[in-house]
Amino acid sequence: MRMDTRTTLRKVDGRLMQQANRAMVLNLVRADPSASRAAIVRQTGLSPAAVSGIVERLLRDGLVREEARTATGGVGRRPVRLAFNPEARLALGIAVDVREVAAALVDLGGTPLRIHRADLPPGADAATGLELAARLARRALRDAVPTRVLGVGMAVPGMVQWPDGVNLFSPNLGWRDVPVRALMEQRLDRPVLVDNEVRALALAEHHYGAARGVGTAVFLDAGYGVGGAAILDGALYRGVHGAAGELGHNTVEPGGPLCGCGNRGCLETFASAGGLIARVREALAAGRASRLSAVPDERLTLDAIVAAASAGDALARDLLARAATLLGLAVANAVDNWDPELVVLSGSVLRASGSVRALTPITHPCATVVNAEIGSAGTVGAEVASAGAEDVAAEDAMGGGTLFDRLLAAEQGSVLETGRARVRVVRAALGAEAKLIGAATLVIADYLAAPLQTHR
Ligand SMILES: [Zn+2]
Repeated sequence: MRMDTRTTLRKVDGRLMQQANRAMVLNLVRADPSASRAAIVRQTGLSPAAVSGIVERLLRDGLVREEARTATGGVGRRPVRLAFNPEARLALGIAVDVREVAAALVDLGGTPLRIHRADLPPGADAATGLELAARLARRALRDAVPTRVLGVGMAVPGMVQWPDGVNLFSPNLGWRDVPVRALMEQRLDRPVLVDNEVRALALAEHHYGAARGVGTAVFLDAGYGVGGAAILDGALYRGVHGAAGELGHNTVEPGGPLCGCGNRGCLETFASAGGLIARVREALAAGRASRLSAVPDERLTLDAIVAAASAGDALARDLLARAATLLGLAVANAVDNWDPELVVLSGSVLRASGSVRALTPITHPCATVVNAEIGSAGTVGAEVASAGAEDVAAEDAMGGGTLFDRLLAAEQGSVLETGRARVRVVRAALGAEAKLIGAATLVIADYLAAPLQTHR
């Protein structure tokens, strides 16, 4: 007998509806520490019976706990408070960086359990890197009973195709066309979600950090490489080919230095740690005087460049100043392109380079910086800096703290003003583990959108 198509569709619709309702209820409990069944009925418009049923299932599954009856119940029985239990489920996050690999189980509240790490040998090929990642992942998986683990997410640098998880190229790892997802699934014998590391960071900051509750936010990460990401209308935007947000490969100097991506003059060649180191080597080879010429090649790091700049080295100051200028412009351009509520900045270059007058570049005609509101994530000291680029190099180079401090420092929130729109600029809130947490959030985000389904 042929199944009636309409019945089938109704069943599918019914299941989707149930999932959506469950997600809605769970997210209300997550957001509201005083949630009760009655309050959920009021807020969702679902029937008391439906809410009861969903809550019973969430309780059975451990995702929600009943807490003491609230004191403000009014007449009759006081409602029982419902609390989200973030430890009910865990996702395994794996983050591959240029220098190390890390893996950890992360709970639904974005808190990692024990972090397992190992150095990635310089120049390691993809097979070596992935084998190391799989070893750490297996170790981390032993930190909890398997039934609590929802799935595995992985963050890698470079251009990553979503959802296939193919790393098309990662200039900084030297990987090209590596089917990371397939190779990791083979090694771990379970599904693995793989995404670009800055998109993972953005997802984590959106769920747990600086961009929580924000509909549209742009992210700029300047570390060993430069990357970007955008949350648009509440969702991570990956682009048609899974390659959206490559701010680091925007051309800032046509015909400029060769980038790892094969193009010339990308932002990354001037404003990433890797790019800065390459520019120092280039200048030294061209005979430019600098105290960095005394630094052995393997010790030539971002820290060494910052130290030289602090000691007054003109080359180091010039390069950091240019990086600051270009990063500021990238922020301003991103604001012009996406019209976000919020810009979130992260990465070692932004943290380490005290470069000065970083605000200058943001004052381009369309986007100006003004003093204004205090941001929610410990934001932004702002000034309208009208100084020219030459000022950047000349002045208090490393005197007053980091580029963050300059861009985001002190007591007041900074706001980019584009036309009439105001945009807050904040630093990322999750710190050094944001990419690792983000890797796990790839799984957690799906789960919270449809709880009680698993990825195992
Ligand atoms: Zn490039």
